[in-house]
Amino acid sequence: MKYCQGTKCHTYDTSDRKRGVKGSKTNQTRKRTKFDYGHGDFCTLQCQDDWFRTHGTNAVNHFGRVTSPIILTEDNAWQRTWNRVYWEDTTQPQWVEVNTITKATRPIEGGQ
Ligand SMILES: [Zn+2]
Repeated sequence: MKYCQGTKCHTYDTSDRKRGVKGSKTNQTRKRTKFDYGHGDFCTLQCQDDWFRTHGTNAVNHFGRVTSPIILTEDNAWQRTWNRVYWEDTTQPQWVEVNTITKATRPIEGGQ
């Protein structure tokens, strides 16, 4: 079990967040075995967004702010793309790699 990492998770008023007995009730951060957002760390997109509003700038500064453009060149521009030819001829590969810069097409390394 793990807790949602949302910085305001406990402030959303839902019955599954309520704990305690009448007179001493609290709302608590959600705890589950698995969450569906933010690589499994957040219970909702709202909680993920709350975390980013609180920590996003510090996180970017900590892990390295982009200070110059990241450049797409022919060497790293290959992207897996659905093969249009496959529509008419199913003996052709269903997926190919297309170079975003040159528009060249090549088979996917290692097949499908
Ligand atoms: Zn949450």
